[in-house]
Amino acid sequence: MTQKIFRSIMAAAGAVLIASLVIIMGGLYRYFSSVQEKQLEDELSLAVIAVEKIGQEYLEDLQSDQYRFTWVSENGDVRYDTQSDEESMENHGDREEIRQAFQSREGKSLRYSSTLLEKTLYCARRLEDGSVLRISVRSVTIWVLVLGMMQPILIVIAAALVLSGILAGRISEHIMEPLNSLDLEKPLDNDTYEELAPLLKRINKQHRQIEMQLRELQRKNDEFAQITRGMTEGLVLLNEKNIILNINPAALKLFHTKESCIGEDFLTVERSLNVNRGIQEAFSKGHSEISMEREGKEYQLHINRIESNGSLIGAVVLAFDRTEAAFAERNRREFTANVSHELKTPLQSIMGSAELMESGLVKPEDMAHFVKRIRTETERLVTLIDDIIRLSQLDEGGDMLFENIDVYEAASEVTAGLADMAAARNIKITLTGETVWVKGVRRLLTEILFNLCDNAVKYNKDGGTVEVSVNRQGTEAVISVKDSGIGIPPEHQARIFERFYRVDKSRSKESGGTGLGLSIVKHAAEYLDGKIDLHSSPGEGTAVQVTLKISSPQAI
Ligand code: ADP
Repeated sequence: MTQKIFRSIMAAAGAVLIASLVIIMGGLYRYFSSVQEKQLEDELSLAVIAVEKIGQEYLEDLQSDQYRFTWVSENGDVRYDTQSDEESMENHGDREEIRQAFQSREGKSLRYSSTLLEKTLYCARRLEDGSVLRISVRSVTIWVLVLGMMQPILIVIAAALVLSGILAGRISEHIMEPLNSLDLEKPLDNDTYEELAPLLKRINKQHRQIEMQLRELQRKNDEFAQITRGMTEGLVLLNEKNIILNINPAALKLFHTKESCIGEDFLTVERSLNVNRGIQEAFSKGHSEISMEREGKEYQLHINRIESNGSLIGAVVLAFDRTEAAFAERNRREFTANVSHELKTPLQSIMGSAELMESGLVKPEDMAHFVKRIRTETERLVTLIDDIIRLSQLDEGGDMLFENIDVYEAASEVTAGLADMAAARNIKITLTGETVWVKGVRRLLTEILFNLCDNAVKYNKDGGTVEVSVNRQGTEAVISVKDSGIGIPPEHQARIFERFYRVDKSRSKESGGTGLGLSIVKHAAEYLDGKIDLHSSPGEGTAVQVTLKISSPQAI
């Protein structure tokens, strides 16, 4: 800007200087030309008077190098010339100034030399006798004058340019000083040129707009950070060059990295070919899904391409922990396979017996045995289907009716129901404790009590004992079922709550077990927000404790 002002001032000064020089030179030239013309006319007037009185002698006596006189007769012949021999001179009748003088007494003309370096001014006047006296003077043209004065002109131009340069420098600095010291952070606080006020106001307005937009951007950023920080899913934002723009804490944990990775290539964080291929696929195709395993957990990565105005600007990687879903899926698959197997076995047995009976191969005395087998297997099937239905109801987890239940009373109903079965094997069932109320689902509580007591009898030794107790401990109801049975080896204890898991399959089947009883107990206790503890020693017996929350005092 300073340079521009400097150059403008210099250009203006140069133009003014040249224009001034031209005008001055032109004015002076014209002035001196008119003075010269006047002098010429005066000289001619004097000469005319003298020639009319004295005649040619006057001209002959004239000693002037500056002026030239030519006396021309009426017919145009030169009578006398102060600088040339009149004999050798041609007829002057056609010269412009002479023609004018013949016609209107006075004549004047100006003629330039062929080189344009010299000009001759002519003045002519008609005398009384009809002849014409002409005076002429030679002088240089303006170009010669300019050339002659070139040196002083150049000196003046140089001096003027130097002076203009110094002044232009100072002026441009002076003009720029307030502009350079403008505080654009606070545009309205500046005390500067009035002309800048609209500009400063506009800057101030833009400042406010930018500030507002920045605040809005910051707010959105914070919002985004807050949302992503709270996400359990890992989230990574990448630009089109695979550089990490944003990464949330869940993703930091998943990829074992730190926040300082922002700005780095995602490859430096995650080297697995699978993940990086997925990203490239999303870049090119728009979407990709991949699975990966980390520390025993299964993750599903959804990668989506981000576009703006149709061109790629990055990708978003969302990582879901699907360990539980995968586990549930596996369980479901296993369960289906187990159910099919469990259903098939009794059905095959029923079919086998029925076929034998149909073929007439069964002796009449054995018929009862086969009918009994069909009945037993059918009962097993019904029990199995009942258990499966119960389990799937628990899996569905729909709303069930919660009511206040006397646990002691429920336990006494269950033990009474099992009394015959226990008596058949000389097993003694006892129930001790007190009335404790819980808020629960009656059917589920009965399931828990029945399955625990049923197992305690089933896996007991003949003549053994089953001790059932219901007690209140603080705010909890504790149900305990303790038997003196075969016990469960430690390595099986963690798995007996799994569906269809049996320690001794043949014993379980023999006693009508489905392998689903403890699964139902586990699910039912979970549904009632209860807790299960198991202690068992092989050969000594098993004790299972279920703890439930008691009802509020008003309900008791
Ligand atoms: P089942 O229908 O076979 O009894 P459960 O789910 O009720 O199925 O029990 C799973 C397995 O745990 C049983 O097959 C049995 O081996 C073992 N078990 C359960 N309760 C007892 C217990 N009180 N004493 C010894 N073993 C038990």
